[in-house]
Amino acid sequence: MASSDVIIIGGGIIGLSLAHRLASEKLRVVVLDRQQPGLEASWAAAGMLCPGPEPPDDNALVPLAKKSLGLYPEFINAIEESSGARTNFRRDGTLELFFGASAEAERDRIVAAHRAHDLGTRAIPANEARAIEASLCESDFGAAWLPHECTVDPRALISAVLQAATNCGAEVRANVEVRNLAIAGSRCDGVESQSEKFNAKHIIVAAGCFSSAIGAAARFARTRPIRGQMVSLRAARPIPNHVVRSHNGYVVPRGNGLLVAGSTIEDVGFEKCVTAGGIARILSAAIELIPELAGAAIEETWSGLRPDTPDHLPLIGATEIEGLWLATGHYRNGILLAPATAQILGNWILQGKPDFNVEAYSPRRFTTEKSTAAL
Ligand SMILES: Cc1cc2nc3c(=O)[nH]c(=O)nc-3n(C[C@H](O)[C@H](O)[C@H](O)COP(=O)(O)OP(=O)(O)OC[C@H]3O[C@@H](n4cnc5c(N)ncnc54)[C@H](O)[C@@H]3O)c2cc1C
Repeated sequence: MASSDVIIIGGGIIGLSLAHRLASEKLRVVVLDRQQPGLEASWAAAGMLCPGPEPPDDNALVPLAKKSLGLYPEFINAIEESSGARTNFRRDGTLELFFGASAEAERDRIVAAHRAHDLGTRAIPANEARAIEASLCESDFGAAWLPHECTVDPRALISAVLQAATNCGAEVRANVEVRNLAIAGSRCDGVESQSEKFNAKHIIVAAGCFSSAIGAAARFARTRPIRGQMVSLRAARPIPNHVVRSHNGYVVPRGNGLLVAGSTIEDVGFEKCVTAGGIARILSAAIELIPELAGAAIEETWSGLRPDTPDHLPLIGATEIEGLWLATGHYRNGILLAPATAQILGNWILQGKPDFNVEAYSPRRFTTEKSTAAL
């Protein structure tokens, strides 16, 4: 039976960032993925790093999101240095547009919510928005400028983090599906695949929306899939130069005329397909923001499954079972939250206690009798 310090179930952005963090501290880390790592939600993401409350009065995620955005430059430096690869990390800011009769009121509500968290967001007139992004539509809109928002190319990032984790000594094993946890009494000390057993002092469930399907982990990992569809476009010239979004959708530039547009939020189980209606809505929102995109070529369409939880907050931390940790349920923000998740859980495992207030994200919140009954 193979033995290590840490086993991480799932090689998405969360599992691999944790592997990099822990292997950098010389722990013996094994990542097990049931396919090639990085091909689920992390591969499908747009890569926007948006720390603001969504909806505007939903504040519980903001402290973690702000911390993670603050860690991003350092995280990218470490990953790019260790892997020798680039991640297309861009610090260009975001324009958010609001259409319709209540556009300005809605914009002011969001700006006020962001200001309460000191996020640097400000209302700007339409002409200033057009000065920032000349390709914007001609119609009337309210606008907000979010100068601190960044983007990264998730596919480039995941491949760099995989390389960085491996270079630091983590062993990443593809095509190993974890079927169950080895729990003896109040302690978890291993996992079981179809044909192998793996032992470790710490077991971390980081299997995205599939976490709830891993045998005994189901009790803690209350995840479920929420589908998001995406499309990438190739424009004749590099437009836009910043993320532009509205209530209906967003466009995210990757450089050289390539951009991605999204998305849908669909509760359709594990059905990972692309639909005519989904792509039509995404393209209509993108063209509403930047009409010139009507002439862009469609390069690719795809969909992914966001790992949602009953309260839409992640599950990060220790469970009631000694040795069993969760790092899952990052829903719409796993790319943003990867650096903070890796740092907080990594430090917790290394030092024996958390160095950040993770109460709101505790895996224990769904295992009390009261909350289980309510779900
Ligand atoms: C369309 C779309 C757009 C998004 N846009 C953004 C965005 O702009 N910004 C942002 O921050 N986030 C975004 N997200 C959310 C983000 O992608 C996710 O929160 C994040 O990728 C979750 O990462 P993960 O590592 O937890 O899960 P995943 O990337 O899903 O990885 C889980 C891994 O676990 C493996 N696995 C599953 N079951 C087992 C098992 N039994 N044994 C072994 N391995 C297993 C899988 O093969 C997979 O590799 C978006 C998501 C989607 C779908």
